[in-house]
Amino acid sequence: MPLVQGLTTVFRVQAPGLLVEGKLGERVLAFFPDDDGSFVSLQGVHAMAEPGLVPLSLRFIDTASGEILYAFRQPLLLEEGGYPFRVLNGVPPETIDLDVIEPEEALISDLLAKVTPEKYWQGPFDYPSRYYTEEFVALFGTRRSYNNGAYLSYHAGVDFYGRDTPIYAPANGRVVFAGPLTVRGNATYIDHGWGVYSGYLHQAEIYVSEGEWVERGQVIGKVGGTGRVTGPHLHWEIWAGGVPVEPLSWVQAGYP
Ligand SMILES: [Zn+2]
Repeated sequence: MPLVQGLTTVFRVQAPGLLVEGKLGERVLAFFPDDDGSFVSLQGVHAMAEPGLVPLSLRFIDTASGEILYAFRQPLLLEEGGYPFRVLNGVPPETIDLDVIEPEEALISDLLAKVTPEKYWQGPFDYPSRYYTEEFVALFGTRRSYNNGAYLSYHAGVDFYGRDTPIYAPANGRVVFAGPLTVRGNATYIDHGWGVYSGYLHQAEIYVSEGEWVERGQVIGKVGGTGRVTGPHLHWEIWAGGVPVEPLSWVQAGYP
């Protein structure tokens, strides 16, 4: 099974009555019991991860005795995602200042590293916008240079056209962040369970608050141009296992 930069990897194992633990590289895999009795882990592969071999290790543990019944380690090949390169000019300088970016990144990635053992979604996600779903301002994974700087970052979401248009929750979940940030602008993040989160950036208005439960199809905000933008649009992210992943596959195919 190859791993691909920026994609969601599904690990599914049959282990009736056992506890499953795993690691992919240095990342701990969170396994959850699925409806069919198997155990599933959804793990994003970082879009900038170095291609090459990554060790996968799995351990099957007896729930009663805590004894490790079986363990194995196998290298998986991580392949390039084939993402393009792009220069973005006219970006406000304070939003590409590392002293601003890094604490904001840390705040969000710490928040989204938490794993809720319940699964709140069923089947494929909906689009968070009902406008321009055939055409996007920007796709996931593009390597980015801001104001002709180095290609140090990448686009961690999909950008929808829009201005003052409604933003819909694509699946059930609980709001874990709702508020203003320097780079992300007015931002909302929703926990969908099993380590899966979605994010809505640069909003004109936020209609939900932290801790609030949202239903699929509920209007959660309005598209805007706050934060690091060159014009109004909705930046949509999905995270799996603490890593931003390509979001459109969550609409088209669905997971797990
Ligand atoms: Zn974006």
